[in-house]
Amino acid sequence: MLRGIMMDQQLLVSSLIVHAARAHGDTEIVSRTVEGGMHRYTYADAELRSRRLAQALAKLGVGEGERVGTLAWNGYRHFEIYYAVSGSGAVVHTVNPRLFPEQIAWIINHADDQYVFFDLTFAALVEGLAAHCKGVKGWVAMTDRAHMPSIKVPNLLCYEELIEPHKGDYAWPELDEWSAAGLCYTSGTTGNPKGVLYSHRSTVLHAYNASLPDSLNCSAATTILPVVPMFHVNAWGIPYLAPMNGAKLVFPGAGLDGKSLHELFEGEKVTTTAGVPTVWLGLLNYLRDNKLKLSTLKTAIVGGSACPPSMIADFEKEHGVDCVHAWGMTEMSPLGTLARIKGKHLASTHDERFALRCKTGRIIYGVDMKIVDGEGRELPHDGKAFGDLLVRGYCVTAGYFRGEGGNVLEKDEHGRNWFRTGDVATIDPDGYMQITDRSKDVIKSGGEWISSIDLENIAVSHPAVAEAAVIGIAHPKWDERPLLIVVKKPDATLTREELLKFYEGKIAKWWMPDDVAFVDQLPHTATGKLLKTKLRTDFKGHKLPTA
Ligand code: AMP
Repeated sequence: MLRGIMMDQQLLVSSLIVHAARAHGDTEIVSRTVEGGMHRYTYADAELRSRRLAQALAKLGVGEGERVGTLAWNGYRHFEIYYAVSGSGAVVHTVNPRLFPEQIAWIINHADDQYVFFDLTFAALVEGLAAHCKGVKGWVAMTDRAHMPSIKVPNLLCYEELIEPHKGDYAWPELDEWSAAGLCYTSGTTGNPKGVLYSHRSTVLHAYNASLPDSLNCSAATTILPVVPMFHVNAWGIPYLAPMNGAKLVFPGAGLDGKSLHELFEGEKVTTTAGVPTVWLGLLNYLRDNKLKLSTLKTAIVGGSACPPSMIADFEKEHGVDCVHAWGMTEMSPLGTLARIKGKHLASTHDERFALRCKTGRIIYGVDMKIVDGEGRELPHDGKAFGDLLVRGYCVTAGYFRGEGGNVLEKDEHGRNWFRTGDVATIDPDGYMQITDRSKDVIKSGGEWISSIDLENIAVSHPAVAEAAVIGIAHPKWDERPLLIVVKKPDATLTREELLKFYEGKIAKWWMPDDVAFVDQLPHTATGKLLKTKLRTDFKGHKLPTA
């Protein structure tokens, strides 16, 4: 081999904040705080405080590779923890506080978190957890002395007091880029949660990928507000890609309702945001009800579950916002695809472009994908064949923390590894992928598959429907048939017959739901996805009129 003669420099998480402090030192980070009010400072301030926290962690004895947990909203202290922990060689483990306390305790113990940092919102939760997490050496309240919660937990520490004695005369260590930087547990609905362990290398490379023009399109002129929580796959990489590009960062704290978000979007002149569909539903309804507009927002990235076409249309019609449909998973760091149009589509009609933007999107550089049939044979990219979706790439996991779940990789005929996503999809000749279902949610009717997501999207485009879920119900002749479960908008009237009529002409006849059930609300997971396992249990005995 003729080796290249370039400098040997490892790809490290600390390099992102160091770059931001040097090249964008006066660019702002604005946070809505849990204590009340707004906090403002700059990348230079954040980098210095991260170094001070790194010194505090060393004093506490947190060693390389050890895990430090967080139970926190999107805010500046959480951001400092990201850099202080990973930058010093330890592993930041973001825990989803919306999980059940038993699951949280299980995850903290499985990760063997040495310390857990928490926002005041979660003080009572922490008080309950402490007795079940004996391995945790201390619980750090992310606040100052004046706001310390009065809870009984062993070794309760105060964030500001912890960093107070340290000056920041600390040099970020030159780590191996393959060393672990972050840990996230998947929000699986069955079995124990599984940990995905990101490396410095994968985190930095993902920040590049996710910044690209056809990804989040982030620059030093961007003001970006991650609505997606920092405990959900690292807010899709935004805390890493914003400093990489010198974008102004706006953290919403606990205020994820329409009113709080609108205030922040307008007040801070936010240009780019990202989050799951349920949050946007809340925001769009709030804006409509109060006759308000988004005047600076240009792009809303929507993923985590399928983005209904009606949401893409509403963002565009009502606010002139480009709503970009994206897909990924914890196991992929998370970004996989985004539905941005290609140059050749500029000549297409608005409706043709709209149809493409409603798909789940094209792969970004660094990710490859394919669909396969039950025997593992690759299926054509014709936009029609459904298959199990497999991915590979340098930001895709090769296994789970502590070997949980066993070997998750499959080899192809060239000996290359692929990861089975558990999603079912089509891919069209232009490379646009469309998720039709989780493999366990797909409805198998008479040997053919019906996409529950397609049926849900049609239902939510009806003006009287707030939310919809479709599940398969056992059928004596067809194996399974679709049941449509619907939450009506407040004060809306809608009958089963009216809703089924709405499907006519929009789908093949045999996809027509066999029945409709109206409910007050639908169950969701801790990351805002429809909890179909619960719906399947709830409707287990449902008698279809066609059975
Ligand atoms: P998580 O690891 O919590 O991010 O969940 C990943 C899973 O969420 C994926 O495997 C999909 O099943 C689902 N998901 C994410 N984005 C989308 C999307 N745009 N459309 C449909 N499903 C999605």
